[in-house]
Amino acid sequence: MSGIVIIGGGFAGIWSAAAAARVRGDTDLNITLVAPNDDLVLRPRLHRLLPDWSRVPLKRFLEPIGVSHLRAAVTEIDTDAHRVVADDRPLTYERLVVAAGSRLSRPAIPGSELLFDIDTAEGAARLAGRLHGMSGFRAVVVGSGFTGLEIATELAERGEVVLIERADTVGPDLGPGPRPVIEAALTALGVEVRLGTTITAVDETGARLLDGTRLPAEVVIWTGGMRANLLTAQIPAERDPLGRLPVDRRLRVQGDVFAAGDVAAAVADGTGRHALQSCQFATPMGKAAGHNAAADLLGAPLVDFTPDPYVTCLDLGSAGAVFTAGWDRQVQLDGKQGKEVKDTILDVIHPPLDDAEEILRQAGQQSNGVSG
Ligand SMILES: Cc1cc2nc3c(=O)[nH]c(=O)nc-3n(C[C@H](O)[C@H](O)[C@H](O)COP(=O)(O)OP(=O)(O)OC[C@H]3O[C@@H](n4cnc5c(N)ncnc54)[C@H](O)[C@@H]3O)c2cc1C
Repeated sequence: MSGIVIIGGGFAGIWSAAAAARVRGDTDLNITLVAPNDDLVLRPRLHRLLPDWSRVPLKRFLEPIGVSHLRAAVTEIDTDAHRVVADDRPLTYERLVVAAGSRLSRPAIPGSELLFDIDTAEGAARLAGRLHGMSGFRAVVVGSGFTGLEIATELAERGEVVLIERADTVGPDLGPGPRPVIEAALTALGVEVRLGTTITAVDETGARLLDGTRLPAEVVIWTGGMRANLLTAQIPAERDPLGRLPVDRRLRVQGDVFAAGDVAAAVADGTGRHALQSCQFATPMGKAAGHNAAADLLGAPLVDFTPDPYVTCLDLGSAGAVFTAGWDRQVQLDGKQGKEVKDTILDVIHPPLDDAEEILRQAGQQSNGVSG
């Protein structure tokens, strides 16, 4: 096999595949997406604990646009030999797009295998299964970033929630803009917040904190941050602290290798700020990387990755949601209006299915109105 190989079946991988298919046109360029999963997982939906609602069959996106899906996990990348190994099978490539995403980084503490998470559809299903039919449960949520806040506020409707944060403020990485809205929501929902501490051990009955306090709980949920897939270590490039590969404005790492999504540290604006690990960036990065991998191979013009202005929308359970704009996260909407925006976002991240024309049309919509 040769042509374009894309590693990963997340947002970045599928949109790379579609953008490459669009550039391919009537040529006989092979495009193969390698991923072990049958479904794209819409990770931003996972905190609602409806794992099946978060799954999208890859077949219905890839087949109509003529992209092959090899159900396998890549274990080796050899950029000198232009080859990857997927489930013991070597595949050569002319252009490679690395889009293998991220995974939750877990703490090395006693009982860590008992921790719940909402990082994957399987993780969300395990948590939903544990809480099924339970009312009045106690949950400890560790970490008050986006994921921790979303699951803590989601569960507060149904049980008692304690939110643990190592820093001395809630949502330390979210900045002061949305904090008053977040704090008001946590108070309204009765979430108990413990700052300046973390968990040191977990067992079947709860968690222990730094000062030795025991918190009884039916579930302890870890949300302590994402790291880029370890496959990135096999590409000769200096990775950032999140394990991401440096890319130029065309999302090229080096030579024939492009990267997109949570594995790529792409410059996101004129000040040199980097894209965040989010589907908001993974989707346009995928489109640009796939376009460029195919265009590079076929001698067509490449596009720059210039993302749309940065926004966030944080779900706050029955307290609504907070929508912010800009890197300083100025609040634009909260409460019910914020929730309407959140629900719309959770709808629009679902890719079109079964309709080649629509998939390819959307693949051609690069960020900032650039047509690919
Ligand atoms: C709970 C939660 C809530 C979130 N909420 C938001 C939100 O509200 N807004 C937002 O913008 N972002 C949100 N994110 C982040 C967003 O989901 C990720 O940034 C996005 O999924 C990244 O897309 P990706 O394609 O780079 O990687 P991923 O979605 O991680 O997909 C990676 C793909 O690579 C495959 N893969 C992994 N290893 C291999 C291998 N060895 N070989 C082949 N394939 C492999 C995986 O199976 C998967 O198909 C959230 C994330 C989580 C976990």
